[in-house]
Amino acid sequence: MPGLCKGDPRSKAPAVGSAAWVNELGRARRPGPALPAAALPAALGSSTLSVHAGSRDDPATGAVGTPIYQNSTFVLGADQYRAIDQGYARDRFIYTRYGNPSQWAVQEKIAALEGAESALVFASGMAAIAASVLAMLDRGAHLIASKELYGGSYAFFHHELPSLGFSVSYVDPRDPNAVRAALRPNTMLLFFEAMTNPLLNLVDIAAMAAIARAAGAKLIVDATFVSPLGVRALDHGADLVLHSGSKYLNGHSDLICGAVAGSRKYVDRVWPRLLAYGGCLDPHACFLLERGLKTLALRMRAHEQGASAIAEYLARHRQVSWVRHTSRADHPDHALATRQLRQHSGVVAFALHGGDAAALALLPRLRLMREATSLGGVETLVSLPFNTSHAAFTAEQRAQIGIPPGCVRLSVGIEDAADLIADLDQALATI
Ligand SMILES: *Cc1c(COP(=O)(O)O)cnc(C)c1O
Repeated sequence: MPGLCKGDPRSKAPAVGSAAWVNELGRARRPGPALPAAALPAALGSSTLSVHAGSRDDPATGAVGTPIYQNSTFVLGADQYRAIDQGYARDRFIYTRYGNPSQWAVQEKIAALEGAESALVFASGMAAIAASVLAMLDRGAHLIASKELYGGSYAFFHHELPSLGFSVSYVDPRDPNAVRAALRPNTMLLFFEAMTNPLLNLVDIAAMAAIARAAGAKLIVDATFVSPLGVRALDHGADLVLHSGSKYLNGHSDLICGAVAGSRKYVDRVWPRLLAYGGCLDPHACFLLERGLKTLALRMRAHEQGASAIAEYLARHRQVSWVRHTSRADHPDHALATRQLRQHSGVVAFALHGGDAAALALLPRLRLMREATSLGGVETLVSLPFNTSHAAFTAEQRAQIGIPPGCVRLSVGIEDAADLIADLDQALATI
């Protein structure tokens, strides 16, 4: 199989821990794992999938909704021993770090929303990123990532991966020539965010998938900022899509979790890293995530409507110098947004003429909006890139990458847009 030990030119045999065994499995590939259930009708809408996919009534009592299987271990029988022996332990319940019905239910729901064969949930978005990235690399591999990355991902790529012998190049994914120029013979992975923070730049997933395919590399997309309702990255050619479920998937700012979805083949490759690094999601947290996901489609519509209305209001305000939202024709990726996004997200960025001092003065004057990091919850959160995500940058560096002075990031919740606009209006009036 070409490309399998791409990472290490000296090695003739697959590197230790390489994914070669996946290709040698004689067993037919099945989606899932999933509990047996009556099949859902084909071609369901996103709201229906959010509610029904993966969720199971309790067969013992008829209780509606997936029970919380709050157990660490399962009774072993011949079937489980055979599964361990023959290499399909992921399809059986053995121990909750390996798999648990509460995890399977929510994984199936996420897989259905992403149009994926398989999914895994994790104890955080970073756990999903670490396990997924490591699963796609052989020893000595090179990967290409965006210059604009979530801080935790940047720290992982910049500090952890080099210490493990991997090398990383950072590029602007909106410049396909720069991505092609960064390719090396041992490039195994491209990693991009579907929408970046705080500039809300998009990446052309199909274009990046074509570059990856031509180079024999894989593409992972972090779709946290758009949710599966905004873009189904796998449909555009990504090999794996992942999320910080702490944001839109759960949607209530009350849980840290992560998820990855893709073909059974690739997700089976991530699973041993979940086992080894141990970032499994607790069954009770799975219940919370599953409950949150049931309203994903409803919430995303409310986020989109609120964010579009607020962007419209801000664009007309004389104290506002700059507004970014993918719904606006002046967004630099508006054409791509029209082509690729099924729905806009709730994240809006704007800047005040008064610069960072004015932005700092705005926050304590807001009455409904909470000054907090994170995004994707039902409540509107507001933060300033200059003293949060981009605090390590100088003002010049921020300007260079396009973050204007006075930049404010809003994660618009599901409140009434009129109330949020009134909140901004009263706060801006007193600066
Ligand atoms: C929050 C976030 C992460 C990390 O997720 P955690 O759940 O906090 O570990 C990764 N990527 C993006 C784009 C994020 O916004």
